[in-house]
Amino acid sequence: MNLEQLVRKSVWNMKPYSSARDEFKGEASVFLDANENPLNDKYNRYPDPLQWKLKGKISGIKEVAPEKIFLGNGSDEPIDLVIRVFCEPRIDNIVAIDPTYGMYQVCADINDVEYRKVLLDDNFDLDANILLSKTDENTKLIFLCSPNNPTGNLLNRKQIEKILDTFKGIVVVDEAYIDFASEKTWISQLDKYPNLIVLQTFSKAWGLAAVRLGMAFASPEIIKLFNKVKYPYNVNILTQNFVYEELDKVEQRKEWIKTLLKGRDYLNNELPKLSFVEKIYPTDANFILVKVNDANGLYKQLADKGVIVRNRNAVSLCAGCLRITVGTDDENRTLIETLHQF
Ligand SMILES: *Cc1c(COP(=O)(O)O)cnc(C)c1O
Repeated sequence: MNLEQLVRKSVWNMKPYSSARDEFKGEASVFLDANENPLNDKYNRYPDPLQWKLKGKISGIKEVAPEKIFLGNGSDEPIDLVIRVFCEPRIDNIVAIDPTYGMYQVCADINDVEYRKVLLDDNFDLDANILLSKTDENTKLIFLCSPNNPTGNLLNRKQIEKILDTFKGIVVVDEAYIDFASEKTWISQLDKYPNLIVLQTFSKAWGLAAVRLGMAFASPEIIKLFNKVKYPYNVNILTQNFVYEELDKVEQRKEWIKTLLKGRDYLNNELPKLSFVEKIYPTDANFILVKVNDANGLYKQLADKGVIVRNRNAVSLCAGCLRITVGTDDENRTLIETLHQF
């Protein structure tokens, strides 16, 4: 893979903004370099633009070097950045599975980059050859999501491997739900595949959606390009410090995942007992895609009772489907009891 040929020329050639915190990093006692107000101690100083302390701790948990980690304002930031780094508007294109997470297309549209959807099969499985046949010399990115949202299934590992082996551009594997899955992360394959970018997030299994912290894992060369294009202080100090402490909850997180997987089993057992449920799709995530006989009607009936699920009726291959997140035991029971009233 030739990175220079893949990256937008303007990005490759640009000189990134150099902040005061970039230019002096050593120990000192008098800081008169950043026009900060020295009088409001604790939050008055600009934070570390590259979040090294936090990355050091994440590095230990994810078993990946800090230089291969990018941190952003949710996963949404690296999704947007990868497009801005690699895709020339109105010239380059992106190929992605369909259905999948909506933000890939939103970011492509905002950046005026053609977005090509490739339908999964009826089991929501991926055929690498079909997907690859939609790429051309201007395809810079392929977006894969595994476990996929809204379908819940893991994409076949061999098919992803084939894409990584064959495609000459960048392959993004979004693993937002990997902590709930029966398969391992792709992070360990980064050295083997220099064109691989893995996305993960603190919004799901870590229970920190409100904090807005997403991770991208890739070669140090790709991470450097992200750092070149991102806003200098993209992760504020409240988030950096807070997540640093939350990372101690490794055991707690394992317990949460166990609880949620039990909740998922409960829903998988109870939902088929309802007459209007036609199909439960297999899931490796913390949600279940369910086909019912009247998705719009059922969505409304549930909402009237104060139970909100996600109506996916209008999404490709998901006609008649609701996406149901696994909640607390109480929430799951309330959902099932409410459904039995209809
Ligand atoms: C929820 C989700 C994310 C997380 O986005 P954040 O911006 O990190 O909250 C990313 N990708 C997929 C597929 C998701 O479903």
